[in-house]
Amino acid sequence: MSFVLGITGGIASGKSTVVKIFAERQFPIVDGDLIARKVVEPKTPGLAALIDTFGPAILQADGRLDRKKLGDLVFHDEQKRQQLNHVLDPFIRKEITQQTMAAKSLSNLVIVDIPLLYEGRYEELMDAVAVVYVTPEYQLERLMKRNLLSQSDAQKRIDSQMSLEMKKKKAEIIFDNCGSLEYLRKQVIDWLIKNQFVS
Ligand code: ADP
Repeated sequence: MSFVLGITGGIASGKSTVVKIFAERQFPIVDGDLIARKVVEPKTPGLAALIDTFGPAILQADGRLDRKKLGDLVFHDEQKRQQLNHVLDPFIRKEITQQTMAAKSLSNLVIVDIPLLYEGRYEELMDAVAVVYVTPEYQLERLMKRNLLSQSDAQKRIDSQMSLEMKKKKAEIIFDNCGSLEYLRKQVIDWLIKNQFVS
């Protein structure tokens, strides 16, 4: 039996940092961001479904998806944004499931890295979910620093997601990233040891 652990967080909470710790220990990673790009590559049914919904104006001259145009189209329109998520969801779900199944045959622990895991209701595909948690103050500070954003722009991005407090309530496992990187690493290793994925 292989265990499927979903990892999520909020923007700049430290999710990528945690995923890297698992990857360093050779656990397979199913990457939700990569999958979201893969399902709209040229000639995919995902891209065809997007064109059906939003029209061919979302394509570049070379037939690839024009992410900026699509982004502009949905950015200020909540209904269109929901439509976008709704159209792509089955393709993303199918690909996550397939990659997870393949990874399960290789390892007793599979990590599924999905930034918007709860927003997209992907928790049902996981055996457990870990959230990488920071307080709102740390989240704002790290996001401003990493993305060189003003306080108000950073806050807007944070506010567009489900709050980390809410995700913390839902998750089975919490990795607290309010301390040092060493402290974060220790929590991940302790979890791996406790669950006998490493000795
Ligand atoms: P996410 O993937 O959740 O958006 P990252 O893992 O990229 O977040 O972390 C956000 C930023 O905060 C990065 O610049 C990272 O280097 C930094 N960071 C992460 N954890 C810590 C920590 N414990 N102490 C200081 N900086 C950190």
